Amino acid sequence: MKLTYYPYTIKLKDRFTVSSNSRLATPAVMVEINHNGLTGFGEASLPPYLKEDQTSVLNFLNQVNLSQFTDPLQLDRILDYLNNCRDENFAAKAGVDIALHDLVGKILNVPLYKYLEISPAEKRFTSYTIGISEDEELTVKIREASQFKFLKIKLGTGNDREIVERIRSITSVPLFVDINQGWKDQYYALDMINWFKEQNIILVEQPLSKENLKDAAWLKERSPLPIIADEAVQRIDDLEKVSEAYSGVNIKIMKAGGIHHAHSMVKKAKELGLKIMIGCMTETSCAIAAASHLSPLADWVDLDGAELISNDLFAGMKIVEGRVEIPGTAGLGVNKIGKQDN
Ligand code: MG
Repeated sequence: MKLTYYPYTIKLKDRFTVSSNSRLATPAVMVEINHNGLTGFGEASLPPYLKEDQTSVLNFLNQVNLSQFTDPLQLDRILDYLNNCRDENFAAKAGVDIALHDLVGKILNVPLYKYLEISPAEKRFTSYTIGISEDEELTVKIREASQFKFLKIKLGTGNDREIVERIRSITSVPLFVDINQGWKDQYYALDMINWFKEQNIILVEQPLSKENLKDAAWLKERSPLPIIADEAVQRIDDLEKVSEAYSGVNIKIMKAGGIHHAHSMVKKAKELGLKIMIGCMTETSCAIAAASHLSPLADWVDLDGAELISNDLFAGMKIVEGRVEIPGTAGLGVNKIGKQDN
């Protein structure tokens, strides 16, 4: 097996602002694994809060020696090796893990969901994310998102009520709200969530600081809406400690360290009684397709990452009328269409 990789800058269609940062692009590293004439594609997407960058990913991938393996179908063995290469670099590991799964699916000529023994029958609607925006821009973005059955609104800036009221003057579509740890006080949080309940808001993501499990548990106990952990949960070992403090968890392949770990997290989270959201970073259709194969296992899906970008490198992953269409061809089910230099 031959591993190749290159840095890629994912460009956003519009400036994307959340309570902690604002950006026009997301750095990434694209991964390819070649074996007997087949290519598996993968991707490491690196938003600023993940503490990985292109340099750290390239350094990690420089150390990964896949030429020692002759059979990609020994996936568990290869993934064990990958995990043990280093403790950190989870997005980098996700890039390799995605490419390996794509390759294995292509060798066996089965879509990834089938390889993972997931039924594709359950179709999920994804939310579409609206970053923090000025009034005029907000109106335009919401009108543009009319195909989506759920919107995800980034809040946590101090004028949350005004933003929700503004949105409600334009649309009555159900909302997910993501506070990105922006609220400091649990009493304020509860007041807001009680009001959200009347505004056709479905769930609240990461209202308080990720470290503050005590107040999160207090809030969950009283909240009329499900409270979802995102920043508070990165990997499988984090699930147990949040299971009393949150109603659900946002599982992302980049945080988990790959498809294999994200799938294991889904199973463990269900055992712990947590609801499941499958989410994403700003990603091309490669990593979004990978996550789409897990989407039937989720209660809520937030897989709009490739909808927000202007230089997707892949085709084959579709969202139709807001519904996630899981690709049905071998592996991830996407084809590379773009040029890697951008
Ligand atoms: Mg979030």
